[in-house]
Amino acid sequence: MGSVADRLYYDAAAGDVAALEFRAVITDVRLDSHAAGESGQKEQLWQVALDRTAFYPAGGGQPWDTGLLVATAKSGTVLEVVVERVEEDEAGEVWHYVRKPLPEGTEIVGRVDADRRMDLAQQHTGQHLLSAMFLRELGAATVSFHLGADSVTIDLAVEKVSEEELRRVEAAANHVIYEDRAMRPRWVEREEAEAMLSRGELRKLPERAGRMRIVEMEGVEFNACGGTHVESTGAIGGLLVRRVEKVKQGQRVEFCCGLRAVRAAGRDYARLRELGALLSVGAGDLAGRVAGLIEDKKANAKRIKSLEKELAQKGTGVSS
Ligand SMILES: [Zn+2]
Repeated sequence: MGSVADRLYYDAAAGDVAALEFRAVITDVRLDSHAAGESGQKEQLWQVALDRTAFYPAGGGQPWDTGLLVATAKSGTVLEVVVERVEEDEAGEVWHYVRKPLPEGTEIVGRVDADRRMDLAQQHTGQHLLSAMFLRELGAATVSFHLGADSVTIDLAVEKVSEEELRRVEAAANHVIYEDRAMRPRWVEREEAEAMLSRGELRKLPERAGRMRIVEMEGVEFNACGGTHVESTGAIGGLLVRRVEKVKQGQRVEFCCGLRAVRAAGRDYARLRELGALLSVGAGDLAGRVAGLIEDKKANAKRIKSLEKELAQKGTGVSS
């Protein structure tokens, strides 16, 4: 095995589908006995290294890309293997996890699942933006974040966020989306990054030495980040803050971006319609109708209690 894979995703824009399909040669293959994700059972997967890859390995809070490695034999037979997981090891090699081994030296075409990449890049870029807006509008720093299949959250080092503050930050984020500001990744030497830190342009730096990747959201912020981003803030599509809850280190804000936000809003509205149909009111009148039902329930409970008491006094022996 020679040098580690070239990272094609570093310079590729998420919207550029051509950058998600690439030619490469397999440089190393090994069998890995791995504890499977949810079941905890051991499973055997093959790990494949390539001379170049557009697959993003998990890192910086962003999950890995999935997709296909496609090999064509001399006979013309096409073999497609699914890339289930992608991870980077300590030496910086990127390993693609597959269920069928492909021999070293095989030329392949790699295809990154474009929908998954776009979704993850939208949520990840949205996280940069939302954190920047919380800092700008409320002076609230992000201390950690999580990007999952169902929810995206950031934790803020603040005691409280009011509903009004939340909507102000959400509006500010959506305004930057409307402005369609460029996302510009570039590589800088550590000294330059440290100078940016001391000028206050960067909030923090990773500990490792050497060159690092700085991603600029034009006119908004710089961030030391190796993740995948959309080309410009417009491609985040829209940002919806869903809820806030108190956690140990402060406040946890759940949000979603782009198509996820559209789907989440659609699901929420479907639930409201379902409830409205049950109670025979429109979505806008649901709260009033439910409050009325709760009042009725309380009044009925009171009435039952007093009737029971009345019956007991008459000595008819109502058992409870
Ligand atoms: Zn990033």
